[in-house]
Amino acid sequence: MSAIRSALIIGGGIAGPVTATALRMAGIEGRVFEAYPGPAHNIGSTLGFAANGLAALDLIGAGDAVRKVAQPIRHQVMSLGHKHIEMPSLQDVEPLQIVERSDLHRALHDHAVAAGVDFSYDKRLVSVDEHAGGVTAHFADGTSATADILIGTDGIKSKVRTLIDPNAPTANYTGLLGFGASVECSVAVPSDTMYFAFGKNAYYLYSAMPDGRIGWGANLPNAEYLSMSQARAIPNEQWLRTLRETYGQDTPGGEFARNTAPEDLVVIGGMHIMPPVPNWYRGRMVLVGDAVHAPSNSTGQGASQAVESAVQLARCLRDFDDPATAFATYERIRRPRVERIAERGAKINHGKTMGPVMRRMMPVVMPLAAKAMKLEETMRREQSYVIDWDAPVNERSELVWA
Ligand SMILES: Cc1cc2nc3c(=O)[nH]c(=O)nc-3n(C[C@H](O)[C@H](O)[C@H](O)COP(=O)(O)OP(=O)(O)OC[C@H]3O[C@@H](n4cnc5c(N)ncnc54)[C@H](O)[C@@H]3O)c2cc1C
Repeated sequence: MSAIRSALIIGGGIAGPVTATALRMAGIEGRVFEAYPGPAHNIGSTLGFAANGLAALDLIGAGDAVRKVAQPIRHQVMSLGHKHIEMPSLQDVEPLQIVERSDLHRALHDHAVAAGVDFSYDKRLVSVDEHAGGVTAHFADGTSATADILIGTDGIKSKVRTLIDPNAPTANYTGLLGFGASVECSVAVPSDTMYFAFGKNAYYLYSAMPDGRIGWGANLPNAEYLSMSQARAIPNEQWLRTLRETYGQDTPGGEFARNTAPEDLVVIGGMHIMPPVPNWYRGRMVLVGDAVHAPSNSTGQGASQAVESAVQLARCLRDFDDPATAFATYERIRRPRVERIAERGAKINHGKTMGPVMRRMMPVVMPLAAKAMKLEETMRREQSYVIDWDAPVNERSELVWA
């Protein structure tokens, strides 16, 4: 049993509650501190949970709570104008589950609370003191909290990352602005199929929602970076005009853009990819999730990787007495897998920002590219990864590449 008894977990998104629940299983009390005033605050849109992420959630007993609010996707189709190419599906692997973000956050939060995890809201971390007895977090409201270790699950713009290393890299802009919406539409979309569509001017994706509407997401190429708040300062009506111009000639993208009501448009802003982070930990502080490895939304793996890392960190903290060895082992287990997935995301993003000539060549290029990328092998490597919670971790164990 570890000598580490308590943890401050900064950020109550996806990695935060999962880390806290997994730590409980390891005999460590983790308290979650979230900057927003409450759970699932203004996050909108949907997210796909892959089989590997669900398998990691099963280890903390939260998998079924997520499946209950999710919709399984058994077919994934690449749509290039009128040409549809079904992507290989792994028969022996659980299908992707599409879930509303607010439902996901609520499910993970409620599961953590039921496991005894304490959440505090309106707690924005501003600074940290490390001392012989532990680590103290200071929050913007003037309060503070102390524990043996501090875990940064504070997302892509992580404060903890810069406290660990003031020279840490920041996330790169992918050149794409994100939008999500649900829309009434005449197009028939099977309930178990997700479409990834390379339109005339830009990429979008869509699937049917349980209530019969279509959920669609747009990736709009835009040279200028806009943060979420900068993008939200522009009225939704104006964004819809841009989306209608961009997707107007696409089928069914044009209909989605024309039918989307301003109040149903969720503006996400600039989408990011995290370059490799040199220092995952320092002293009593360590990073989990997007704070250290955001592999781009294009991989559909960000949340699943966050959950895997949360569980693996808990295993390491369970089996090592000192934070330094636990954190080093955690990094060694996780870094190769998450960086490989991020590399794949960068390649896909390149495809999403291509020019009109390349776009016209897509029907020819895409099947060849899928073959070259060994798509089925890659999917299997990513999605059939299952963590063995009960296996003890040692300094040589689990050099699983992934
Ligand atoms: C458009 C889009 C689509 C995506 N689609 C998918 C998908 O289909 N599948 C998938 O697996 N992934 C997807 N992702 C990625 C996924 O959303 C992330 O990987 C996931 O949210 C990471 O979880 P996290 O807990 O690490 O970070 P977050 O979910 O960002 O949570 C971080 C939390 O920390 C809080 N916080 C930040 N700073 C502080 C502070 N100083 N003090 C206290 N709290 C703080 C934040 O308020 C937030 O609640 C997508 C991302 C985008 C942008």
